[in-house]
Amino acid sequence: MTASANIARAQSYLDRFRTDGVLNHINGQAVPAASGKTFEIISPVDLQPLAQVARGDAADIDAAARAAQAAFATWAAMPGADRRKILHRIADGIEARAEEIAFVECMDTGQALRFMSKAALRGAENFRFFADKATEARDGQSLRAPGQINVTSRAPLGPVGIITPWNTPFMLSTWKIAPALAAGCTVVHKPAEFSPLSARLLVEIAEEAGLPKGVWNLVNGLGEEAGRALTEHPLIRAIGFVGESRTGSMIMAQGAKTLKRVHFELGGKNPVIVFADADLDRAVDAAVFMIYSLNGERCTSSSRLLVQDKVYAEFTAKVAARARAIKVGHPLDPQTEVGPLIHPVHEAKVLSYFDIGRADGATVAAGGAKYDGPGGGCYVQPTLFTDARNDMRIAQEEIFGPVLTAIPFTDEAEALAIANDTPYGLAAYLWTQDVTRAFRFSDAVQAGMVWVNSENNRHLPAPFGGTKDSGIGRDGGDWSFDFYMETKNICFATEPHSIPKLGR
Ligand code: NAD
Repeated sequence: MTASANIARAQSYLDRFRTDGVLNHINGQAVPAASGKTFEIISPVDLQPLAQVARGDAADIDAAARAAQAAFATWAAMPGADRRKILHRIADGIEARAEEIAFVECMDTGQALRFMSKAALRGAENFRFFADKATEARDGQSLRAPGQINVTSRAPLGPVGIITPWNTPFMLSTWKIAPALAAGCTVVHKPAEFSPLSARLLVEIAEEAGLPKGVWNLVNGLGEEAGRALTEHPLIRAIGFVGESRTGSMIMAQGAKTLKRVHFELGGKNPVIVFADADLDRAVDAAVFMIYSLNGERCTSSSRLLVQDKVYAEFTAKVAARARAIKVGHPLDPQTEVGPLIHPVHEAKVLSYFDIGRADGATVAAGGAKYDGPGGGCYVQPTLFTDARNDMRIAQEEIFGPVLTAIPFTDEAEALAIANDTPYGLAAYLWTQDVTRAFRFSDAVQAGMVWVNSENNRHLPAPFGGTKDSGIGRDGGDWSFDFYMETKNICFATEPHSIPKLGR
């Protein structure tokens, strides 16, 4: 389809939000905020209003948490096979509405359709994967010792809070909520205030698929209001959070009084390390893809490019040429590779780093300015800085845009020192043909996830998460259940062991 046909279809999907606003969803009911307050969201494409959104606060969170608590016992007791069926039906519903989800997400976030159409399907895949694990969620181990057998089992924690960011909200919401539901938890979801539309579609799809009322509740609102109230609510047993590192730190403090269990997927400043012996053409493809896809608004983006000095000039020249040729445009244009950034506030942050990088002495090898795109929204040029050092702010701070900082290194020891010299530790990408070095380096690099001769290829049973300021805990496979469930150990005596006789 052409861009103009896509835009017309997107408008038809957005009309309902313009007319009805974006409501909360509590105990199976679409409801406005109890206070009646709303806030306005705009499209990053043209900065025009998209909808009025319910501005939930502590009262709405309280109602949602009580609904989640009331629904918990029945949902937790439902056989895993029955939860499995419902979660597969949610995946069916996502697939049936994939175009609507993708188009709404593009207009709400500015992400390009070529990536968002896959994000909707990946959301369905998340539900199917955890649906199929629902039957084994409660399983445990049998641990024998002389005179005893220990049997472990897992039980769902209770109502949990899920707080998500604005960059790829649909995919991330499914990634966090599907395992919680499969485990038998009930959910209160607080999506990001910049891009709340697809979360509304998701909860509707879930209830149309037969999810009982109150199992999944949605409260929109600001971080300091609804978000904060969710992290402080005594009925909420855990918070699964995806967002900035400093917000994670605030959530930990807010949740301290009620001893919240937390799981944090936070920011990154991920290195891609290219040795001279690598397949350089594939490494160029991967480095370009991992920073400029999803507008660079991606926690696992490879925002630091470390290249061995022998091939640095040649390699960065190729990346610069590709960055200059990237098609920036309307998110619904099928040709678009980079769309507008989420919001003028974020655009201003990203643009400020162009001045910071120059002032610190780096060279702009591509981009480095705003881009005049269709609709006049938050477009910036895909940018490459060369001649950079790792102590520059453009190498230390998460810019969260299509901005890459290239730094040369001479040998493996220096590459490792630079790679690890950051407060973050989410992902690292390594390019070399030397298998021994690949083992040695990936073992020593401080990151929760390392991809060797690969871009970010996900395998859902594998663990996902970061070290240092990039997070606490792992998602994926059984790791997700460890977070959403409590492990119980039951010890049976198998023979009459001697019991110390006190007070005889
Ligand atoms: P953010 O931290 O500003 O906001 C995330 C969510 O937290 C929003 O819903 C917001 O309303 C809420 N929030 C804000 N203050 C809060 C408070 N005091 N209490 C409770 N909730 C609060 O993040 P963002 O700007 O929306 O998203 C971008 C960030 O997310 C980047 O740092 C990015 O790296 C990170 N991210 C990480 C991953 C990962 O898996 N590691 C994935 C995607 C994004």
